[in-house]
Amino acid sequence: MIFRQLYDLTSGTYTYLIASRHGGEALIVDPVLEKVDRYLQLMQELDLRLVKAVDTHLHADHITGLGALRDRTRCITVMGEQSKVDVVSMRVADGDKLTIEGICLDVLYTPGHTDDSYCYLFGDRLLSGDTLLIRGTGRTDFQQGSARAQYDSIFGRLLRLPEETKLFPGHDYKGETVSTIGEEKRFNPRLQVRSVDEYVELMANLKLANPKMMDVAVPANMHQGLAQQAIAARGWAMAADEAIELVGEPDVLLIDLRERTERDRHGSIPGALHAPYPDLAENVQPGGMLYEVARSSGKRMVFYCAFGERSAMAVQAAQDAGIARACHIQGGISAWKQAGGPLFRHQ
Ligand code: FE
Repeated sequence: MIFRQLYDLTSGTYTYLIASRHGGEALIVDPVLEKVDRYLQLMQELDLRLVKAVDTHLHADHITGLGALRDRTRCITVMGEQSKVDVVSMRVADGDKLTIEGICLDVLYTPGHTDDSYCYLFGDRLLSGDTLLIRGTGRTDFQQGSARAQYDSIFGRLLRLPEETKLFPGHDYKGETVSTIGEEKRFNPRLQVRSVDEYVELMANLKLANPKMMDVAVPANMHQGLAQQAIAARGWAMAADEAIELVGEPDVLLIDLRERTERDRHGSIPGALHAPYPDLAENVQPGGMLYEVARSSGKRMVFYCAFGERSAMAVQAAQDAGIARACHIQGGISAWKQAGGPLFRHQ
């Protein structure tokens, strides 16, 4: 397995690059915009293909690299379902599994630092974001933070993991790189409290200055979404209510780009073909499944996903590959639901 802890000195942010093997798929957690060139160079050197970029929460101290990585690699961007940001093409919830080739991360919703904070667990490693830090905890005094919720997340979830679980935090300002759950339980000064009220009081008296980047980073991080208008301007998009009229049309092929977990949770459009986004590049090339279906059937390909991000990128890829009539449903299944479109439930 490849596991790299990368550091941004300016913001004290740790970014994690994970892959099961050289030549395989990679996932990155909490990338920093200024470091995107470095990540891409490293992935090239290690022969890795970035398929997912994840933020553990909406950051206030640096601008996320999610948008830039998506634009340069066409990867999927991932955040929790509570995040008030437009950059995500896939949203996760507590209990989900986030997968790439050979790697499966357990998704833990751990609010407190923000109301959209998540941790990711794989094997004996916990990526704890800003929920639990080494000998510290993430501040809870802005962005819908809650010391009470954080206490529950830490004491009710994280400290119940096996003591030898390795803790890889989202930040460190003193040069610490890794700890364990057992070590933090015993030596983290913020965790030596007897009750939730004591923790709330401790957090209320930290008197921290706001992060330097906060006024810049939060608004920037909320608007990293793909400009779906550019795709629409080329005539490659349709509104959900237009797409509803096409269900059952013999010369139209609806293509669902989401993953199985998303389909199970939200349902899918009746009659749609399932062709997950990670396999898209292969599928739209000559000899690939979608390319051959488009060519032999002459059907119009209508891509859709959760919010229209993956499908907008898919239309571009399909058009580049010569599938001329490809288009997508703007706003994805989210817009489809709002428009009252029919949904088929898998479970
Ligand atoms: Fe944070």
